[in-house]
Amino acid sequence: MTAPSGEAPDKDKEALRFGALSLDYSRLAAVAGDLARRLRDAQPVRVAVWATPTLHTSVAVVAALLAGVPAVPVNPKIGERELAHIVSDSTPSAVLTEPGVTLPAALAALPRVDVPLTGKPGELPDESDDEAPALIVYTSGTTGPPKGVVLPRRAIASTLDALEDAWQWTAEDVLVHALPLFHVHGLILGILGPLRRGGTVRHLGRFSVEAAAKELSAGATMMFGVPTMYHRIAGEVATDPELAAAFGRARLLVSGSAALPVHDHRRITAATGQQVVERYGMTETLMNTSVRADGERKPGTVGVPLRGVEVRLADESGAVVTVSDGETVGEIQVRGPNLFTEYLNRPDATASAFAEGWFRTGDMATRDADGYLRIVGRKATDLIKSGGYKIGAGEIENALLEHPGVAEAAVTGEPDADLGERIVAWIVPSGEPPAEEELADHVARLLAPHKRPRVVRYLDALPRNDMGKVMKRALHG
Ligand code: ATP
Ligand code: MG
Repeated sequence: MTAPSGEAPDKDKEALRFGALSLDYSRLAAVAGDLARRLRDAQPVRVAVWATPTLHTSVAVVAALLAGVPAVPVNPKIGERELAHIVSDSTPSAVLTEPGVTLPAALAALPRVDVPLTGKPGELPDESDDEAPALIVYTSGTTGPPKGVVLPRRAIASTLDALEDAWQWTAEDVLVHALPLFHVHGLILGILGPLRRGGTVRHLGRFSVEAAAKELSAGATMMFGVPTMYHRIAGEVATDPELAAAFGRARLLVSGSAALPVHDHRRITAATGQQVVERYGMTETLMNTSVRADGERKPGTVGVPLRGVEVRLADESGAVVTVSDGETVGEIQVRGPNLFTEYLNRPDATASAFAEGWFRTGDMATRDADGYLRIVGRKATDLIKSGGYKIGAGEIENALLEHPGVAEAAVTGEPDADLGERIVAWIVPSGEPPAEEELADHVARLLAPHKRPRVVRYLDALPRNDMGKVMKRALHG
């Protein structure tokens, strides 16, 4: 996977930097090649990777890919029960980790391989079966227990090449990275992407607006982030012109993993002149759509299908939505070389995830005349059926966030004797909590009377997972 599609990068060009530790391309090839030869000779069926945000994790994954050994990245902050599930589900024969780390019991019982950061140059193994499992990545667990998604090299390579096209991504790009390495966003896009291009990654360890700005001022060209990061950036660039100038220098700021509130998108543009590019993907499909670097940016949309990816919308009966009116909502269904092979050990879930060969994402969207998709929310949690209307939670969340008294917002539906479901707004106030009536009026005025929240509940924080996604199943009265 380190081989870029074009020319090989200079040997002494920096490939990966995590804090004070850095590897250039020749040392990366030596270290990962060494480990890959060991893995190839030992022939484990599968390996777990203790996925701390480190150089070791990156080397471990690159080595496993070179050796053709499927790797399972494991969230190092994971709870015991979830870890037990992942270990018994994926049955790794060894665990790759940075040296010196104490592993939890479920992994400590496995043969352990400490990932070195030195190695001798030698031949690079290259497992050439593009359809064989390369990575098994667990979903974020937003809607239920995480599912193991089996990803072949073909899916990884095709998604990265489609992003090269959409983002005009080159070897000159230096990526500011602060995401975890156990989901596709941080690992496949954030590490394997730059390596495939022959570019450079600078990982911050922990995200801070200041640290990201510092890297951008020092010449980094792109940043990948989740909406909670952009929310913090939006807040800070509004009052700090130096920070605003740093983010204004970036070639491309990309957001994904959850919806970027329109309010934050606009605040960032107002302060920095940048329009954040939003892309839409999932563990099962890798990337599906994106706003293009050379295309019109429409806040609140996730852009157009990536090269090679077919996208259709299907209505409740399963019929394909043919209109592109920006209003008709359908489930996003996807087909293309970016798709996973199967859910590990779950043939029934795999079978029911497809309709006539199209993957059913469970995400609902509209499509406008230019082909831009606007995600309304997830079918399971974000579509509220109230008073004969179908109402997307996202639109109401965006409206609530425009109120100055609202820092964070999530909208759910609750059973209601009259309406079928009533709209409930969960609010984290930015200061003195605004009155319930005032918020409800604000939404009704901006949107429509039937989109008015019937109940407002105030919280100190929304329940979020490690990608900053709101866990709506934890929100109930
Ligand atoms: P689980 O499948 O375990 O419930 P999850 O769906 O959150 O968790 P992921 O595969 O990490 O796990 O996330 C994919 C989902 O994230 C998509 O189905 C979509 O709902 C959401 N998503 C990703 N990018 C965007 C975006 N730009 N806008 C809105 N939603 C997004
Ligand atoms: Mg999912």
